[in-house]
Amino acid sequence: VGRMNPYAGLVSHLRASWLSGKTRPMEYRVAQLEALGRFLDDKKQQIMDATASDLGKSPSPGHNTMEHWDKSCRTCQGHMLHPWSLQAPFETELSEILMCKNELHETLSNLSRWMKDEKVDRILDPYGVVLIIAPWNYPIHLFLVPLIGAIAAGEPKLPVPWPGGSQQCQGAFLISLQDCFAVVTGGVQETTRLLENKFDYIFFTGSPPVGRIVMTAAAKHLTPVTLELGGKNPCYVSDTCDVTNVARRVAWGRFFNAGQTCIAPDYLLCTLEMQEKLLPALQKAINDFYGPNPRESPDFGRIQFQRVQRLLCSGRVAIGGQTDEAERYIAPTVLVDVQPSDAVMQEEIFGPILPIIIITNMDEAIDFINSRERPLAIYAFSSDDKVVNRVLERTSSGGFCGNDTMMHVTLPSLPFGGIGNSGLGTHHGKFSFDTFSHARGCLKRGMGQEPLNAPRYPPYSQRKFGI
Ligand code: NAD
Repeated sequence: VGRMNPYAGLVSHLRASWLSGKTRPMEYRVAQLEALGRFLDDKKQQIMDATASDLGKSPSPGHNTMEHWDKSCRTCQGHMLHPWSLQAPFETELSEILMCKNELHETLSNLSRWMKDEKVDRILDPYGVVLIIAPWNYPIHLFLVPLIGAIAAGEPKLPVPWPGGSQQCQGAFLISLQDCFAVVTGGVQETTRLLENKFDYIFFTGSPPVGRIVMTAAAKHLTPVTLELGGKNPCYVSDTCDVTNVARRVAWGRFFNAGQTCIAPDYLLCTLEMQEKLLPALQKAINDFYGPNPRESPDFGRIQFQRVQRLLCSGRVAIGGQTDEAERYIAPTVLVDVQPSDAVMQEEIFGPILPIIIITNMDEAIDFINSRERPLAIYAFSSDDKVVNRVLERTSSGGFCGNDTMMHVTLPSLPFGGIGNSGLGTHHGKFSFDTFSHARGCLKRGMGQEPLNAPRYPPYSQRKFGI
């Protein structure tokens, strides 16, 4: 790495803190976690403002986030307390603040139990200096939830590249930092330079192609990794189900955060008959959630426009389809007549588009799922438990949720992670604690009873073994 690497000094400073043993006592871990909880309470409004300003979460009618960045916004002249950042905080609060507080509660309630040595004398040691790399779509929770697990495990310092962080966010986070933690904001360039350094554990959340880059960099130092990646999450809807409820649960999962969620249902698999029932129900759900013109809804976010817009060319638009590039707006959209070879089925959509693929029965749906990369989540809807169980048993994915979408991620008692192309390793609750803990086999012996060791010392002879 050498002196040329801009982060070498930071990493060695953190390593010195780690070697001092400061982060190991339970009291230290608890104090840090409690401080993180207070931070979330104290800085909640700044977090909401920053994610609204940076990412346009829950924007108000017609508001253009670029105007806000340019400080020429007609409504607020770029002031951070723009009305729309206060207008509809629920989605942000749920996905950013409550996810972290839930994780903190689970960790603080169980930490003393998790930290106990196991009977087999397996000692759980923190790994050392950990690097957490987070993406932009939930910039608070995807960075703080792994951080909670790392603090709980006694990891001392965490350089965290956080791309796209605004001035508000940087300020807010740096206030809470101490000797053992560091934040590096930035994007590809900063992360690339950071990855040249030797870490003891790397926790990466992002896309599969970048996951490969991170794993390759980690391999140079034989550093263990967790890779929380993405992919296309199938959602099977059987012919027997409550269509209204299915449509509401699917629409919520697909259009939450304007579709930019790693576990969003990416596409539907159902029969033609079910599609005909689902379309009006989906239209009604979208209408109920976002009104007749979702563009004016404070609850519907904005997106990476160009990449997502070109996916609208697949199949035929049955619902939505309206776009406005200046506002980075794409309406909640449902596509029909989609072929598996269409562009929208070739990559993770990560936007407010829901394609429907027609299958003739459950077995065909299962075969379709199994013919593709293993996803981060699979969803199956049916009023018949056997159908849900069959999809669960005959497929493989990071997680699974029957008769709902995305809700499994809210339970810190469940492991969260991908498999194959969707990731490697798990976290949340105790699984985070285990992820950041090295199970160190440890035997401590007394100094006496040396004659008992005679058989293992050379020269090996029949006499010594008594045979
Ligand atoms: P991304 O992979 O482009 O970026 C993720 C992080 O890697 C960012 O910090 C980015 O700066 C960095 N990065 C990007 N290119 C890099 C490179 N060449 N070298 C080094 N670092 C690089 O992902 P994104 O677009 O920010 O986020 C969307 C993806 O993340 C989707 O695939 C989504 O499914 C996935 N995701 C997964 C989870 C999960 O928990 N499994 C959660 C959220 C998002």
